[in-house]
Amino acid sequence: MNFLSEKARTLSPYTAGEQLADKRYVKLNTNENPYPPSPRVGELLRAYDPAALKLYPSPEADALREQIALTEGVGKENVFCGNGSDEVLFLSFAAFFDGTRPVCFADITYSFYEVYANFFGVPVNIAPLKADFSMDLQGMARRDCAGYYIANPNAPTGAGVPLAEMERFIASVPEKLVVADEAYMDFYGESCASLVGKYENLLVMKTFSKSYSLAGIRCGYALGSVKLAEGLRRMKDCMNSYPVDSLCQAVCACALRDRMYHDKTVALVVAERERVRAELLALGFTVPESKANFLFAGRGKKSGEEIYRRLKEEGVLVRFWNKPLLRDFCRITVGTREENDFLLQKLKKILS
Ligand SMILES: *Cc1c(COP(=O)(O)O)cnc(C)c1O
Repeated sequence: MNFLSEKARTLSPYTAGEQLADKRYVKLNTNENPYPPSPRVGELLRAYDPAALKLYPSPEADALREQIALTEGVGKENVFCGNGSDEVLFLSFAAFFDGTRPVCFADITYSFYEVYANFFGVPVNIAPLKADFSMDLQGMARRDCAGYYIANPNAPTGAGVPLAEMERFIASVPEKLVVADEAYMDFYGESCASLVGKYENLLVMKTFSKSYSLAGIRCGYALGSVKLAEGLRRMKDCMNSYPVDSLCQAVCACALRDRMYHDKTVALVVAERERVRAELLALGFTVPESKANFLFAGRGKKSGEEIYRRLKEEGVLVRFWNKPLLRDFCRITVGTREENDFLLQKLKKILS
């Protein structure tokens, strides 16, 4: 007997970066932040009253949404929270798209867009990146579709679209929904959040996983018009009406309140990103300019796969995809200065 549904048998799931435990690795393969979250999060956890956990959480994550609204300069009613921006992305497919018209995204981008489109039976319209890895927004605007998923900065290339260019694009497609996936935006600083009150067709998504060093606690959010936020809430209430747990809400609100720490760790990552990129260029790699917390490096003296495999033997995990367009490259997360020095030392050894 095969009890699996057709979906379970046939869809291709997302494959996350390896989480290996066979030895200690310098882990530069899943774009986690190398620094711990704000020390205030530690204080909160130590003082947390377990009795609070006997109650269901606030279903709409009220206190957290208020803190997000303050931080982002939008109204609380413009904010929707989920268990990681992956869940918010999932709900967005259910809320805004169906089988009648395609969604459009780049050929090289976050691979979950395609997984979710297939899951929900939404056709896809794939737009190739330009040769320099930038997104062809003008070409995309002309494509027949109901909306767009734009990772900005893009993954795994790190390319960023400046705010003014995003605004021109959003204004040029008023009938289509533009989802700006800003998972890495804090490492760039060109967020579309300020446009949320101005464009009905804009939904911005952010996460606590990257710049806030909270990938383990699973929280992300969307900013959009009241109607868009309402659409996400309707879909949430059809699946899981209490998505963000109480502890997670408290931790994320606490991390948001410590702006100084957030901005300090982001600045450290950005400075290291520029240093490591210069070193990789000097080693002969092609490395597009990155606005995120990782670098896309390749076309050097060894193939992407060999770099990945040899680094793994040397105790450094980076991300490699055996796919056309991607297999010449590896994606390398920016670590601490010590981790990055270890990476560079191993790369020099491999190339010599
Ligand atoms: C990491 C990432 C996300 C998802 O982050 P969550 O951990 O689910 O909040 C979404 N989009 C992109 C482009 C990412 O890299």
